[in-house]
Amino acid sequence: MSLASTSFTHLRLDRLSRSFGAFNALNEIDLMIGKGEFIALLGPSGCGKSTALNCIAGLLGTTGGGIYIDDRRIDQLKPEERGFGMVFQNYALFPHMTVLQNVGFGLKMRGIAKDEITRRAEAALALVRLQGQGDKLPGQLSGGQQQRVAIARAIVIEPPLVLMDEPLSNLDAKLRLEMRAEIRRIHNQLGATTIYVTHDQDEALSLADRIVVLRDGAIRQVGTPHELYESPKYLDVAEFMGYRNRLSGKVIRVENGVATLAVDGTEISGRAMDLLTPGETAVLAARGDDVIDTADGQNTLQAVVETIEYRGREHVGTARSDSGMELIFHGPRNVAPGSRVSLAIDAGRALVFAGRG
Ligand code: ATP
Repeated sequence: MSLASTSFTHLRLDRLSRSFGAFNALNEIDLMIGKGEFIALLGPSGCGKSTALNCIAGLLGTTGGGIYIDDRRIDQLKPEERGFGMVFQNYALFPHMTVLQNVGFGLKMRGIAKDEITRRAEAALALVRLQGQGDKLPGQLSGGQQQRVAIARAIVIEPPLVLMDEPLSNLDAKLRLEMRAEIRRIHNQLGATTIYVTHDQDEALSLADRIVVLRDGAIRQVGTPHELYESPKYLDVAEFMGYRNRLSGKVIRVENGVATLAVDGTEISGRAMDLLTPGETAVLAARGDDVIDTADGQNTLQAVVETIEYRGREHVGTARSDSGMELIFHGPRNVAPGSRVSLAIDAGRALVFAGRG
């Protein structure tokens, strides 16, 4: 018996925990995932992403809490009883089976008739744009094509849930971008509920309906890509979303949600993300493309250029402020290292968090 034919409205993790000896790799995770959602589990190496995915798949036992499909508890079921589709980083294809046999394998295990296996496996191959390649062996395909076979194999069983663990990590940058678009297209076409593990925020932002940011085995923040990108709740989530500049200073005032700090003797403002008290130290976080080398900007900080790189339409550089804080900036000019620049910080996009960071 498998859950494959089950129609459901949500998957629920209820205080899901997994420890290895005294170490809590996953600590009381609560999460509700709606049918058809594309969820990205995002976080730095070792935060527990794969542990969470493997617990959901049934490849790893849990040590606390439960996993439910609607009201049915599934964390005691074997992986094959759950019947979820899995796609791994290393494809995990059978090298001696043809592409068609690889894709049809799960159906064969389920005792489905040969004609139907061929029909469904061919349809799945067409969906991943590999029609006509069924007779090849995996070794005769490129990495991107092998990953498409792995995706076809995962979806051919029409699973209630598709689980993907860093499926694009082994591909080069160009293929990664192509496959990212393919995965989204396939998701849009099938509407399969998907949980996708990645440490790449761009991948999470471009693919997911909602992103779950994990840190040290716990959920830090859950939100849409837009929410996480524009309004990360914590400095560490902000850094993970690309806010690589951090400037510390004393809070001078907070008005209408805008906090102004004294940074290197200059007033610098940004959106207040926490309750901030004048006189306290706070941290302003900004993305590199919100710190611009410009002659006439407001909210500017003086700094000395350390490195500069040509990036086609613009330059990206690093600079050091008078008190030694490093800044990443963008700008139109090729300013020589050692030059003094005025860097304008976009006050509407920079974020101010309480504390020292
Ligand atoms: P990565 O992106 O590097 O794969 P991750 O976020 O997927 O990282 P996990 O693989 O889930 O991280 O591991 C979470 C933590 O649990 C890590 O500190 C890891 O060392 C630990 N861990 C995972 N599996 C085991 C195991 N079998 N025994 C002991 N510790 C483990």
